[in-house]
Amino acid sequence: MPEPIPFPAPTRLAARSAVVVGGGIGGLACAIALRRAGLTVQIIERARKLREVGAGLQLTPNATRILRDMGLMPRLEEVAVAPRALDVRSGRSGSTLARAEYGPATTRFGAPFMVVHRADLQKILADTAEAEGCAIALDSELTSLEPSARSVRAVVRQGQNLFAHGADILIGADGVRSTVRNHLYAGYDGRKGPPAGPVFAQRVAYRTTINAPDNYPPEVRLYLGPNAHLVAYPVKGGNTLNIVAIVKETKPVGRWNAPGNSLDVLRPFANWAPEVLKLLESAPHFLCWGLYDIAPLPRWSFGRMTLLGDAAHAMLPFLAQGAAQSIEDAAELARALQHNSDAEAALHAYEAARRARTARIQTDARRNGSIYHFSGPARIARDLVIRRTGQGLLDRYDWIYSA
Ligand SMILES: Cc1cc2nc3c(=O)[nH]c(=O)nc-3n(C[C@H](O)[C@H](O)[C@H](O)COP(=O)(O)OP(=O)(O)OC[C@H]3O[C@@H](n4cnc5c(N)ncnc54)[C@H](O)[C@@H]3O)c2cc1C
Repeated sequence: MPEPIPFPAPTRLAARSAVVVGGGIGGLACAIALRRAGLTVQIIERARKLREVGAGLQLTPNATRILRDMGLMPRLEEVAVAPRALDVRSGRSGSTLARAEYGPATTRFGAPFMVVHRADLQKILADTAEAEGCAIALDSELTSLEPSARSVRAVVRQGQNLFAHGADILIGADGVRSTVRNHLYAGYDGRKGPPAGPVFAQRVAYRTTINAPDNYPPEVRLYLGPNAHLVAYPVKGGNTLNIVAIVKETKPVGRWNAPGNSLDVLRPFANWAPEVLKLLESAPHFLCWGLYDIAPLPRWSFGRMTLLGDAAHAMLPFLAQGAAQSIEDAAELARALQHNSDAEAALHAYEAARRARTARIQTDARRNGSIYHFSGPARIARDLVIRRTGQGLLDRYDWIYSA
């Protein structure tokens, strides 16, 4: 196994201990990065088991570069697929509008595009965090925070009992409905920025996995149609096909299991290409997922507490960047703690390095969501542009992938 490439040698260390609230991809990546920077780390996770729900995840070079530098590539390669192309198709006819090969982009960005089942990535991160000495408290829900000038105490409910975990700094990696964010913004002067809270995007994602059809190619297929789109790619070494069907929905929804072939899923796809219908009809069930993001926040860090991942910048999945950005956050936070001697200054440096970039991605992801669902003349014009762009489809996101 290749040696992990270490983060730059610390010049100073702004904190010795951290509590990370949330054991999702962002929280676990953060725990590993902070541990390697020399901090002791306590993860607090509300779930009884670390179990990522949902299905697949596209990992772009900006994320795989960091995972590689963390030494995780050998394990990732065992379970992930390196797709060879992005194939954008018309949902109605199934014909290819444009095809962009990942190979040249991988060479240019110096790290691969990968697709992986999110449970596999979470397991790799959790195993690594535990093996390197991060403590993980499961079934532990953060209920309140008690900050002081030199430390932070997280009060946690575990069954009927309350416990306190104290540390020099606290990172809220507790997702789009973040308790830490609510706490930080409770006393915030609203005139300084918009209130923080999830916004329903009027989109629902139906997610499922099926056995990959024979000879299914290692590529990401994006089918575009009026008011709906569908993404399919293989995961689990190519044996499983991940399918996400995204449709317009005006009523806010949380999350539920829908039986396969349910009308809700199939109705928007009724006139689509037979290859799309075949995929949807072969799914035994779907996990239905309302899509929410938050508006870019005016700040993330308050004293010795900060936010990371979806808690800081929940975004719509139309640039496949939510998890990638949480991994970038983790690396940047570790760097900031190593290069500042003061904890509060380090958290501000981290936020300063990250906030504009993630805000731009949040905004662009919203815009992409609208473009994907164009109908009528706008759809025809969009398809024309896509056909002309061809391989250039990936170049448009140089600014994301090359970071
Ligand atoms: C349909 C869809 C497709 C997507 N596709 C991609 C993709 O291809 N590529 C990509 O990069 N991103 C993608 N994303 C985004 C990605 O899934 C998220 O951005 C990412 O998982 C966020 O990770 P996180 O750790 O910040 O938050 P979460 O995964 O939400 O983790 C938060 C954790 O905090 C815990 N928690 C919450 N409250 C508390 C509390 N009070 N106390 C203790 N623990 C608590 C939760 O149980 C959870 O484990 C997609 C999202 C969706 C919906």
